[in-house]
Amino acid sequence: MRKILMIYTGGTIGMIRNPQSGALEPFCFDNIYEHLPMLRLIQAEVHIETLSPLIDSSNANPAFWIRLASFIYERYDAYDGFVILHGTDTMSYTASALCFLLENLSKPVILTGSQLPLGVMRTDGRENILNSIEIASDYRNGKPMVPEVCLYFENSLYRGNRTYKDNAEHFNAFVSANYPKLAEVGVNIKYNEHYIRKASTEPLILHTRMDDNIAILKLYPGITEQAVWAVLGIPGLRAVIMETYGSGNAPTYPWFISCLRESIENGLIITSVTQCKGGGAVEIGKYETSVSLGQIGVISGGDLTTEAAVSKLMYLIGEGLTNEEVRYWIPKPLRGEISEG
Ligand code: ASP
Repeated sequence: MRKILMIYTGGTIGMIRNPQSGALEPFCFDNIYEHLPMLRLIQAEVHIETLSPLIDSSNANPAFWIRLASFIYERYDAYDGFVILHGTDTMSYTASALCFLLENLSKPVILTGSQLPLGVMRTDGRENILNSIEIASDYRNGKPMVPEVCLYFENSLYRGNRTYKDNAEHFNAFVSANYPKLAEVGVNIKYNEHYIRKASTEPLILHTRMDDNIAILKLYPGITEQAVWAVLGIPGLRAVIMETYGSGNAPTYPWFISCLRESIENGLIITSVTQCKGGGAVEIGKYETSVSLGQIGVISGGDLTTEAAVSKLMYLIGEGLTNEEVRYWIPKPLRGEISEG
């Protein structure tokens, strides 16, 4: 029997309605078998731990990601796979952060959660937990089927660093627009083996430094010079994720280009990701409206999601790399987060 560690971090999934007040409140995971009796039938030895303090995932931050990665690292040898119960709001950010912090992964780490609490009749949490455990414990010929950081939701297994939360209501809340699903769960579990990362043969490395001196600049028609400087001028800022239009386009106004040029000359790293949720990647120079971005040194973030770009930059800068090294690594896939382009 495979040994799986399920780690509860907080979020809707672990809530139950207080019969007196009617309000949702976290329940003690020691009583999980009351809420999920099927857990006893699963073909794996499941241990449960709670990462305290429990958080609503809106309060996730680099310190939380590092705590969670360290928690897994310390228990890595004792288990065959990990299932993390997490709030849905920032689950994609955490999945991305974990993939960078845990280098050379050779076991499944699957994040899941739910739109309805486990203690509610129609909860989606039950299937999400049971299927995540089944996938995390699925080994064939001694090898795990998905030795990477994944996100499981509503019958689909995704590469975590390719996902974003797309819907606050549907059970099918996540999308991976630029990378195929790793598996689909119906009567059988169908793995898209070709798209799943290979298990590393190197020992697991835990990274524990992330630099949060980054910011996001989302472009919109009518953006003012003041608004652009309000972001680019943040003291101590090392890198900016600029959310551009379409395939990486931006205004060509001279003031806009000079703001970016001046900031880059002063050592700021600016990477461009697209506001489009799917259908491709930033291609600097494809249109006239992105040619000057390339000339002044904006780096293409390809098909990186904003969610993955946040933790990739925090990780690269946190590792103490020079600007040149960070710029070199942004477009390169480190954990399958970006398509080679
Ligand atoms: N606000 C909650 C959280 O992300 C929502 C959820 O769990 O789905 O922690």
